[in-house]
Amino acid sequence: MSPTSSPVVRAKAPGKVNVFLRVGAIQDDGYHDVAIAYQALSLSDEVRVRHADDFRVSVSGTVELGRVPIDESNIAVKAAKLLAEHTGYTGGVAIDIDKHVPVTGGMGGGSADAAATLIACDALWGTEISRDDLFALARQLGADVPFALTGGTAIGTGRGDELSPALAKGGYEWVLALADFGLSTPAVYAELDRHREQHAGEIRPADPRPSVDSDVLQALRAGDPHMLAEVLHNDLQAAALHLEPSLGRVLELGESNGALAGIVSGSGPTVAFLAADRDSALELQVALSAARLNVVRASGPVHGARILSE
Ligand code: ATP
Repeated sequence: MSPTSSPVVRAKAPGKVNVFLRVGAIQDDGYHDVAIAYQALSLSDEVRVRHADDFRVSVSGTVELGRVPIDESNIAVKAAKLLAEHTGYTGGVAIDIDKHVPVTGGMGGGSADAAATLIACDALWGTEISRDDLFALARQLGADVPFALTGGTAIGTGRGDELSPALAKGGYEWVLALADFGLSTPAVYAELDRHREQHAGEIRPADPRPSVDSDVLQALRAGDPHMLAEVLHNDLQAAALHLEPSLGRVLELGESNGALAGIVSGSGPTVAFLAADRDSALELQVALSAARLNVVRASGPVHGARILSE
């Protein structure tokens, strides 16, 4: 299609919850290996792209947008530029992001936007990138971006970007308590390192190459929310709670109002509550809204980033 007809390509960018997150010992380069069980959620952003001479981005949506950059530091712009550079495409793109995934919320919203931008620009520009190259570019953009492409349920090791599919069945109903503040992922990791250093000798040393516990894999295979609720785990949770003690009350409120279990999502501050079924999720949503929490419902697993037909 010619640029003058101004086609728009739309892509869905799903957020995620980590139903299990173990953080390995800090390495010499300051990074940690992790072991993550990811689940892609129906709470999604939408990325729309159209031809332009330069690279630009605009943002709208239902979440706090103040922390989303609208210059070349937006990860969606980085994704588009990386694809252009890789394929030799010489034009630009205007990117419009409709955001619903909380920003700096531990739900991988930026990573999802990057994944959706890669596939949307590839479709708009007709660059036909191979699957291997697409994943290589995703990895360069961030550790959570490859999972945002695949979606579903997956295990991530290394930096979180070495993905293997998880045998999983069934669907899960979540209620997400969104905070009106963000938590910086590096700050939460730093707090975990500080705690581990301070208590070295009292706590079991972290495994340098962590793995996902077998009872988590078993619960996912069974597709049983009650089983999964028993084994939800996040090594970053204590650090996030230390930085933001108010999250403790949020967890208590959910658990005393019928959630099977609650967990801080990734580095927080979003708290994800697993419900037994859709009706329980609805009841929990009503109870938490009455307690003046900002809550949304989501289900998972869903597909990864994908093009939406007109
Ligand atoms: P993760 O759990 O993957 O670390 P997160 O979900 O906590 O990330 P994001 O909303 O992905 O957080 O944003 C992380 C940072 O990236 C913020 O500081 C934000 O300013 C910046 N950012 C850049 N581009 C985007 C984007 N398209 N959407 C949201 N944040 C973006």
